[in-house]
Amino acid sequence: MIKILENLLLKEYTTLNIGGYARCFVEVHSIEELKDALQYAKDHNLEFYIIAGGSDLLVNDEGFPGLIIKLSLQGLTLEDERIKVAAGTSLQDLVNYTIEHGFAGIEKLNNIPGSVGGAVYGNAGAFGQTISDKLVRIRVLVGDEEKYLNKQNIGFDYRESILKKHKDWVILEIEFKFDIDNPVELKKTAKDVLETRKQKYTPGIKCPGSFFKNLIIDRLPKDLQKDMPKDYYGKVPAWWFLEQVGAKGATRGQIKISDHHANLFINQGEGTAADFFALAKEYKNKIKEKFGVDLEPEVQLLGFKEKL
Ligand SMILES: Cc1cc2nc3c(=O)[nH]c(=O)nc-3n(C[C@H](O)[C@H](O)[C@H](O)COP(=O)(O)OP(=O)(O)OC[C@H]3O[C@@H](n4cnc5c(N)ncnc54)[C@H](O)[C@@H]3O)c2cc1C
Repeated sequence: MIKILENLLLKEYTTLNIGGYARCFVEVHSIEELKDALQYAKDHNLEFYIIAGGSDLLVNDEGFPGLIIKLSLQGLTLEDERIKVAAGTSLQDLVNYTIEHGFAGIEKLNNIPGSVGGAVYGNAGAFGQTISDKLVRIRVLVGDEEKYLNKQNIGFDYRESILKKHKDWVILEIEFKFDIDNPVELKKTAKDVLETRKQKYTPGIKCPGSFFKNLIIDRLPKDLQKDMPKDYYGKVPAWWFLEQVGAKGATRGQIKISDHHANLFINQGEGTAADFFALAKEYKNKIKEKFGVDLEPEVQLLGFKEKL
């Protein structure tokens, strides 16, 4: 039985701790409940939006006038050397499991918050690894139908997947096949990653991770490429562009761009989505003016009329 709640404050469900009220909200723990929730949205003529860990979201202060479905499908099984994971399972649980069992390929995703489904949606990655590297296929709900999509049909690219073009599709389950490696080595890599990440993300920080996507160096105009830093897995980090236009340390209301990392926008307490959006837009525009380059948000925006 699903329990539809009304007027729930969404800031409680985002790591940024920003966001107004959802008209309706439901947490689902099974595919049956998910289907019931989708039916409810249909019957009541409500737009729906899936959330999981809320770690990649900027929700508007006005909230969302439809049904928020918090996906809490959990579970992990190992079958015929394939790991099957329910979409709401935490990515950290999956990373821990793979490391302990000597499965290599996502150990560098250590300490990324959120769910496995959310990671697949945005092809999350770090230090040269992405969630899609060892992915075999996913099961998605498209309307009333459950479908399998093999990796080559998921449109993976840097922080991209086909799911971003089909907001009404819901990832249910993800299957992986990993390489075998020594758990001791994997543990060491994960530990090193954690040490590096701790410098960027201090405990309790209210943020959605990096805000803008990095830029793929080969896709930049040739004359720009020669002056760009080159040692970042084929990307020019967004922080580099942001630094060039003086973003570090900038503030608007309670939103601050980190003094240490220009692509890290922090809610210092009671920050608003309006201030966040305005600050991001200000520096995006400065970069456009100076370099002719368009930064795109990596974080998903919910409830905004204007595009960033
Ligand atoms: C401190 C911090 C550090 C971070 N570091 C990194 C990093 O190193 N690399 C990186 O890539 N990201 C990073 N992120 C961003 C974020 O953690 C990842 O993008 C994460 O994978 C998002 O998962 P989520 O469950 O929180 O998704 P949510 O924020 O809940 O949702 C994000 C999007 O995914 C969609 N979605 C979620 N689940 C499903 C589903 N089952 N089916 C269909 N759509 C779905 C939602 O509709 C939404 O559009 C970081 C975030 C924080 C707060």
